[in-house]
Amino acid sequence: MKFKIQVVVESESGETQLIQEVLQIEKGNLQPEDLGLTLAQGKELLLQTQRSIVNQHIALYQKQQELCSDCGKKLLHKDKRTITHRTAFGKLKLQCHRLFHCACTKQATRSFNPVANLLKERTSPELLYLESKFASLMSYGLSSKLLQELLPLEGEINATSIRNNLHSLGKRLESELPEEVGMLYEDCQRNWDRLPRPDLPLVVGMDGGYVRFYDRKNQTAGQFQVIAGKSIKADGTSKRFGMVYCYDTKPQRRIFEVLKSQGMQMNQQVTFLSDGEESIRDLQYYLNPNAEHILDWFHITMRITVMKKIAKGITKEDV
Ligand SMILES: [Zn+2]
Repeated sequence: MKFKIQVVVESESGETQLIQEVLQIEKGNLQPEDLGLTLAQGKELLLQTQRSIVNQHIALYQKQQELCSDCGKKLLHKDKRTITHRTAFGKLKLQCHRLFHCACTKQATRSFNPVANLLKERTSPELLYLESKFASLMSYGLSSKLLQELLPLEGEINATSIRNNLHSLGKRLESELPEEVGMLYEDCQRNWDRLPRPDLPLVVGMDGGYVRFYDRKNQTAGQFQVIAGKSIKADGTSKRFGMVYCYDTKPQRRIFEVLKSQGMQMNQQVTFLSDGEESIRDLQYYLNPNAEHILDWFHITMRITVMKKIAKGITKEDV
């Protein structure tokens, strides 16, 4: 038995404009391993379906752009260019027309590429999201292998491209983070009193650790401090944050924005848990006027254990 999978393009009035075959699958007698689609068929189906949809969509967009937006006259074609665009379902090579501007309005350039102007980024936000998500959980190399295993991206991504994309995304997010200021409280007590009744307290746990520099050139500098934390809402949903304290230029702002994204109101209580270490305590100040600072039990136990050991040592020496 043969199965043909087609994309049917319909106009807005419901007229069939094009039928394009994207995949053929032949099936013999039913066997357990032959039921449904294989991963390879699924990937091919996604790749070809996307290509077919995109080709039609781009063609329609280019047609709409062919007329001058000011006088309605048809614009002259200059030439064709190919633009590469990557999505989670494969690489697209888009054939784009470059058009001459209409003479009715003065323009800075003689020609323009409508598709290139529209697609400023060459990687789709969804693929960037997937790359960044997995690269934050495992190595760049493993992220690349995993994505290529599951999505039609064979040979399209590698560890270097994921690292470069992640770094540029990080820089972009960093540039969107507002400035660090001494006091992060927003508004004043009079307005806090007028705020709606807040949610139950947010609980924020923070801890730090020292890591030795990997880079030999930096080894004389010794170690750097990494601080990580988790903010938990009353309903159990949580967000994590982390930073290299000596490098971060906006450490408090970073934590404040995480709390704000969890709906923190200025009249809401926030409970900070930490080991009481000075740099961590400093970070927790001026984030919320109703903050409560608690030494967490784990660190209290650790300190008692250390004190017990010291006490034992003293007894032995006395004997
Ligand atoms: Zn015109």
